[in-house]
Amino acid sequence: MKTIAANLKANHTPKSIITYLNNLESKVSKIDTKNVEIIIFPNQACLQDNTFPNFNLGAQNAYPAKNGAFSGEIGLEVLQSLNINHIMLGHSERRGILGESDEFICQKFEFFAAANMRIMLCVGEDSNIKKQGKIAQFLESQLAKIDTSYPLLTIAYEPLWAIGSGVTPTLSEIESVVKILQNLNCKKILYGGSVSEKNMREICSVADGVLVGSASLDSNNFANMISKVV
Ligand code: PEP
Repeated sequence: MKTIAANLKANHTPKSIITYLNNLESKVSKIDTKNVEIIIFPNQACLQDNTFPNFNLGAQNAYPAKNGAFSGEIGLEVLQSLNINHIMLGHSERRGILGESDEFICQKFEFFAAANMRIMLCVGEDSNIKKQGKIAQFLESQLAKIDTSYPLLTIAYEPLWAIGSGVTPTLSEIESVVKILQNLNCKKILYGGSVSEKNMREICSVADGVLVGSASLDSNNFANMISKVV
């Protein structure tokens, strides 16, 4: 079973997401999706009831609390009220731009794991770490406090230098990182970073699926990409 996930980031509006999701549902309902799991991560303002038959909605982030005085955040109560079971944690944009530390990400991991959420944890090195040949040590440090035996955990390996750059690692580089992560006890491993219609199929041959950013923003394009993998 391959997982194909869309990270819509801060794109789409509460209006445009309705068209996006309805169009995706109608396109994907014509594809045989029994061997593929599809997850869409819209921005917080675009989250809605998780009722689409052919894909699940997930949150790109949430605060590790049920609710409360956490301005600008949403908590578990919001997700549960929408029947949302998927959450993404540790995206490099949250780590880099919003300053989220490994400790805070681990705190979120523990909170949402205790709530039985399906967690997509993003990890990945920058170009300096890659140049120094220290990918394995770096990933190990990012996962040091994470219980990788948590059964509802998916790791999204997203090298920072590949995100939005149009550059991807070679297949053998992805394969070797998958092995590193398997040695760290990770069971399900996706690749993310400049995944496109052209490279998605071959990347899915060495990983358990893909996390797609820019190429998922258009629902026709994303549905077409999904049809190439099933
Ligand atoms: C991402 O940032 O999660 C991502 C996969 O982005 P892109 O596909 O645009 O590189």
